[in-house]
Amino acid sequence: MKIGVLSLQGDVIEHINHITRLGHVGIEIKKLEDMNGISGIILPGGESTTIGKLLRETKMLMPLREKIISGLPVWGTCAGMILLAKYIEGVDLEHLKVMDIKVKRNAYGSQINSFKKNVVINEISSEPLPLVFIRGPLITEVFNDVKVICRVDDNIVAARQNNMFATSFHPELTDNLEIHKYFINMCR
Ligand code: GLN
Repeated sequence: MKIGVLSLQGDVIEHINHITRLGHVGIEIKKLEDMNGISGIILPGGESTTIGKLLRETKMLMPLREKIISGLPVWGTCAGMILLAKYIEGVDLEHLKVMDIKVKRNAYGSQINSFKKNVVINEISSEPLPLVFIRGPLITEVFNDVKVICRVDDNIVAARQNNMFATSFHPELTDNLEIHKYFINMCR
């Protein structure tokens, strides 16, 4: 399968390496035509304000939004989660606004910048998975049919709504492949 990774800014190569290790092909998405033939797309971590601006400048914002609304599987990690959220506390940046979640930027890990925690996510694996947080957003509210997938310290850090999956943390920065495997299953 071909899995796209939005490649405007952020940790792209780490996602591509994980996709390759799982036996699939990671495609760097820099323009609209790169999306032809992909089975799903990952929006990586980075800086959501920058990625949102570049999405508009490259004229991918609205077409990608349409594709997601039409069912293209999408996974946003960290900044990618912010781009997916319909509501962002306090700011109005250019973004996709497709998923029924409200997020707060820089809400988790901002004090100490980053931390790692091993957590069991029942939906994904019975083994604890290493979760890495780097100035991550928190989901402060979920609406409609959004399913909470993971909480850490009572905070919502992963959620799913049909073809959309969002995590506050960065599985591409660990050796563990389970969460990428989960997304690839969403793409079948
Ligand atoms: N704090 C960043 C933002 O608001 C996200 C950080 C990250 O992706 N690691 O976009």
